[in-house]
Amino acid sequence: MVDQVLTQAGVGFELTDDQKMLQKMARDFTAKEIIPVAAEYDEHAKFPEDIFHKARELGIVNMNIPAEVGGVGATVFEECLVAEELGYGCTGISTSISTNNLGSLPIILAGNDAQKQYWLGERIVEQGEFVSYCVTEAGAGSNVVGMQTRAERKGDHYLVNGSKIFITNASHANFFTVFAKTKPEAGHRGMSAFVIDRNSPGVKIGKKFDKLGQRASDTAEIVFENVEVPAENLLGQEGQGFYIAMNVFDYSRPGVAAAAVGLQRRALEECVKYAREREAFGVPIYQHQAIGHKIADMAINYEASRLLVWQAAWMVESGHANPKAAAYAKAFAADMATKAAVDAVQVFGGYGFMKEYPVEKLLRDVKIFQIYEGTSEIQRNIIVRELFR
Ligand SMILES: Cc1cc2nc3c(=O)[nH]c(=O)nc-3n(C[C@H](O)[C@H](O)[C@H](O)COP(=O)(O)OP(=O)(O)OC[C@H]3O[C@@H](n4cnc5c(N)ncnc54)[C@H](O)[C@@H]3O)c2cc1C
Repeated sequence: MVDQVLTQAGVGFELTDDQKMLQKMARDFTAKEIIPVAAEYDEHAKFPEDIFHKARELGIVNMNIPAEVGGVGATVFEECLVAEELGYGCTGISTSISTNNLGSLPIILAGNDAQKQYWLGERIVEQGEFVSYCVTEAGAGSNVVGMQTRAERKGDHYLVNGSKIFITNASHANFFTVFAKTKPEAGHRGMSAFVIDRNSPGVKIGKKFDKLGQRASDTAEIVFENVEVPAENLLGQEGQGFYIAMNVFDYSRPGVAAAAVGLQRRALEECVKYAREREAFGVPIYQHQAIGHKIADMAINYEASRLLVWQAAWMVESGHANPKAAAYAKAFAADMATKAAVDAVQVFGGYGFMKEYPVEKLLRDVKIFQIYEGTSEIQRNIIVRELFR
């Protein structure tokens, strides 16, 4: 009855059979391949290359690569379904796995047919390679336009000099989508996007960072020293880099937010289980209203975050791409995931602080959701900009 009403209103939340199958496949994969090893990969900061390849065989990585070049050609919504499931298991492993989606996006959105065929079709789909997305620099994170990496046109190539910091999967990536200034004096209109092969002379992978959380994901620095990049590796036109980077975020932020939704569901389920079993003052702790209400809020925020993610995914897919929708989803899911992880440790009491229980890792893993892919402050700046446009 409710379904009928929703359908008549043009709104529905029922997944198709294919989507349910995809969700189940990702859920089973997470249960079998991620959850049992997540603590070990976290402790040793082990890069989940083997898990990536198993997921690849199943078709749940690189999902956004178009069918024309041999990819799955999934929708952003389908990517979000999978991201939530993988994020439930371990957001460090899911970040590593989903970085290929992010790194591919500049090519998907701005590449020509030959670039798509080679970098996406041959290098990623056929050879199973890794790609990293490189915007951030030591002196320019939120302020993307402040980047200093320079790409100078010299005949049939560009000479690239500069460095990128905090780049996910950089130590393992076979190539990079890199943003650099081709016309420094032109501000955001002077930025361009390139594909750079890791084997190009002058590309050096620098320091690998030791992190608070999401330790299974690799985060490193890349230095470009007089790297000759063929002119054919320019994505789109010179000067379009900033617009490409911003367009990428419309497509990538719903998926990042979906992983934060997965973490929320994990916190919620762990709390429901624990608060039913753990007794204090002669009753299960959920019967103490202070604890029961924390868990109820966790459930409300999980459901609300997921709706914002689904809305943002639907908007970008249906041609209504809007940075505000992606920002709502990213900011809310990240903030609510952070609250859920903090509250989950509280529900577990002293045990929550111990590594033997899963919520300690959730608390360490969650913080980055408020920082990468645009901080929570930057998401709010976007929302203010759009509201007062
Ligand atoms: C684990 C990890 C993985 C990452 N992966 C990648 C990747 O793969 N590729 C990539 O390019 N980058 C990546 N990043 C970089 C990430 O996107 C940046 O760290 C982030 O955008 C913030 O930039 P920043 O660290 O320079 O902080 P800053 O920009 O220096 O910000 C510091 C603080 O000031 C606030 N702030 C700054 N400007 C404003 C403003 N205008 N209004 C309000 N508040 C403001 C910020 O919100 C933040 O709280 C990663 C970072 C980490 C930690």
